[in-house]
Amino acid sequence: MMIESCVITEKKPLLSVEKAQQKIQEVIFPLHENEIVPLKKALKRILDTNVFAQINLPIERNSAMDGYAFKSFDLSMNKATILKNIGVSWAGKPFNGELKTGECIRIFTGAVLPKNADSVVMQELIEIEGENIIFSAETKIKQNVREIGEDVKQGDLLFAAGKEITAVDLGLFAASGVFEVSVKRHLNIIFFSTGDELVSLKKPLQSGQIYDSNRYLLSGLLDDRKYNVIDGGVITDDKIILEKTLLEAAKKFDVIITTGGASVGEADYAKEVLAKCGDVNFWKIAMKPGKPLAFGKIENCYFFGLPGNPIAVAATFEVIVKPALDRLSGADFKPIWKIKAVCKTPLNKVIGRQDYQRGILSQDETGNLSVISAGKQGSNILSAMSKANCYIVLPADCADVQIDESVSVVLL
Ligand code: AMP
Ligand code: MG
Repeated sequence: MMIESCVITEKKPLLSVEKAQQKIQEVIFPLHENEIVPLKKALKRILDTNVFAQINLPIERNSAMDGYAFKSFDLSMNKATILKNIGVSWAGKPFNGELKTGECIRIFTGAVLPKNADSVVMQELIEIEGENIIFSAETKIKQNVREIGEDVKQGDLLFAAGKEITAVDLGLFAASGVFEVSVKRHLNIIFFSTGDELVSLKKPLQSGQIYDSNRYLLSGLLDDRKYNVIDGGVITDDKIILEKTLLEAAKKFDVIITTGGASVGEADYAKEVLAKCGDVNFWKIAMKPGKPLAFGKIENCYFFGLPGNPIAVAATFEVIVKPALDRLSGADFKPIWKIKAVCKTPLNKVIGRQDYQRGILSQDETGNLSVISAGKQGSNILSAMSKANCYIVLPADCADVQIDESVSVVLL
């Protein structure tokens, strides 16, 4: 993997966000191992094979209404018709007979139609006189019948491999006779924090120490049914320990994510260790927050070395790591949708990097979207990110944003 320059800033060439995403997509290959799971375990998993309907949906002609089923042929033109009510078809308890001329039956939603009935009228539109049902002159014919296979036909392709299974898909599978599916196996992911200053929760802080927030942030970001995730703990700023830990992890996991230690200060030793362990490149991405990022492979394991600042972790995860994990999971490519909104606060922006500023998006009564800054934009400012519900994405070549300018946002 070679570093390519896309956006030139004062000092060094940076890799554009799009180029970084593309390079990662090119070198990651989807998992090929699969497992068969029952529907209840299939939500959010990725289909490994194409799935076809096993039966017609509906499997039989049935009523879309509570009402009366009849033969259209029996209705008189332009005047009321009386038909004799000869039985009932319930959902689950069909009427086992045929209609003779001049007959109809009571029918409920989802109940099977007699073979020769071709229409249902809503119960509100008829009148009842003993066993006679009076159909008005306005009664419409050939209505309210759900035809065999009108939703899905037996043998139809329901979904192609790569589909992430949704709740509605589970319903469709069940209805069309698919009771288990082949999905990609779980992705095995381990993450670590790096830094001598990091202290586990509940311990009192000495001067210079901070609580390790990134592992909590990452455990939230990685909470996904497609992943088996292990919190690997903190690695101190120590070459030997870092090397040993990464090499061991690479044997057992598909993906290692670390935070911290990728910036200029520590890059030298991290670079040295990662060069020794595998094929890892240090990128400077034209993205703010999140400029330094290490990406590559340690043996067969993909490695993402994210920046240390929590907001940079969140942004690089969303923009770089998530699409990469999707690809590795075998999921179809999902574009990150940008929505246009009017910016109601001025934003500071230096030309050169794509900014992911934290914003609060809202909608007025007429549906117009506007966005304001969520507060301080430092890559360490968790409180503003916590208030935010979107990123305001400002392109690399954009300068300061004035009030009422249109901007792009990505929902969080
Ligand atoms: P580094 O990339 O290691 O130089 O870290 C950049 C900044 O992020 C420093 O202020 C670190 O203290 C901070 N940082 C690194 N790791 C963590 C973490 N796990 N939790 C909170 N802050 C961190
Ligand atoms: Mg550090």
